[in-house]
Amino acid sequence: MAHFDLLVRGGEVVFRDKVTIADIGVIDGKFAEIGPELTGTARREVDAGRHLVFPGVIDPHVHFNEPGRGDWEGWASGSAGLASGGGTTCLEMPLNAHPPTLDRASFMAKVAVASASSRVDFGLWGGLTPDNLDHLEALAECGVIGFKAFMSSSGMDDFRHADDATLYQGMRTAARLGLPVAVHAENDGITADLAGRARANGQLTARDYLDSRPVVAEIEAIRRAITLAADAGCALHLVHVSGGSGVGVVAEARAEGVDVTCETCPHYLFFTGDDVERIGPLAKCAPPLRDEAVREALWSAVIKGDVDFIGSDHSPAPPSMKTGDDFFSIWGGISGCQHLLAATITGFGLHTLDAFEVARLLSANTAARFRLNGKGAIAVGNDADFTWGEMQAPASLPVEGVRYRHPASIWDEVEFRYRTMGTAVRGRVVVEHGRLTNERPGRLVTQGSTHHAV
Ligand SMILES: [Zn+2]
Repeated sequence: MAHFDLLVRGGEVVFRDKVTIADIGVIDGKFAEIGPELTGTARREVDAGRHLVFPGVIDPHVHFNEPGRGDWEGWASGSAGLASGGGTTCLEMPLNAHPPTLDRASFMAKVAVASASSRVDFGLWGGLTPDNLDHLEALAECGVIGFKAFMSSSGMDDFRHADDATLYQGMRTAARLGLPVAVHAENDGITADLAGRARANGQLTARDYLDSRPVVAEIEAIRRAITLAADAGCALHLVHVSGGSGVGVVAEARAEGVDVTCETCPHYLFFTGDDVERIGPLAKCAPPLRDEAVREALWSAVIKGDVDFIGSDHSPAPPSMKTGDDFFSIWGGISGCQHLLAATITGFGLHTLDAFEVARLLSANTAARFRLNGKGAIAVGNDADFTWGEMQAPASLPVEGVRYRHPASIWDEVEFRYRTMGTAVRGRVVVEHGRLTNERPGRLVTQGSTHHAV
């Protein structure tokens, strides 16, 4: 008879291709048995009756800002938000910590702070800038998940954007190291010029900002990144693609055999440029929120299967950086990792897709792309990363339930159809009855293995 560490009873379990009622038995942090009415003893039992049980959400794109900028967000608060929304793993971006993650020492410093306080497992992106081409190999040895480059200004002085030569060299090195390059794709020349002209004319409103970052600047950069990556033989990932036409360019290249994937974010699926004018700085991000037709085309691309996965791009800043009369100088970034699963389910509900497709976009595809072995699906032998919750009548997530360091976000006004009740990371329950526990099991994950000695 099995002796489970954790036994979850009676949930509607979301598998790769179906949703069925099953019990889940966990031993030593792994799914040990899954099936109807398991027999055995359990140190801990959870009644998930009438709950949906999803594979743990893998958020491929968060900014947790530590070390150095814990006043923006932190590993404790950021991972608390992610776990409270059903997340079990995040891939964290290299630019907002101080120092930015550009070499071995900065990587180790981030691993130290994350290991001490994260509730979820974490992979780390290394930076790719004109200043650290000589450090990519060392970052690969450390276990970065890939390299992140900005084709336009990152907003951080110590994380310079990658000009074409830097990007091409970095891609060639990444190809040799077997790691992907992720790019923020916007044409720097066009966006910098349009922003400069607007500011020179005293045009500083939200609409002026939106107009300075047109869709064509994104499309052009996506095409250029694909051209360079295809030649370099490098796996390419486009982060936060903001509209259907950008996804279309990626899908076309993939059909031609280029190793390229893309993600989008819930805010591009829910909000438009008109919302930026109405809501203000909380809705500022780059690329910016687009118009209604672009938003609809993005949904079509998701439903068609051309978007590989959805990430939050959780990018918080202190409230003092999210105010002011000059929309250009306000920090661009939207908080959302706690809202990722609920927003996706809610959006999908309106577009009548199934739970296992949500799981594919929030877990399975992400794990496959970054070779997070043992993660991304509820299956015997995998890490016991999962989350349970329930469908509900549309309701907002009260701000006192938001775990970010700065809880206010554009999501405050959205009514969600789903709420998370519990989350387990390798069988350790980090959220139960919608509340955080004291568990902080988070550890480093790398490509090809679920843990890595650094
Ligand atoms: Zn980002």
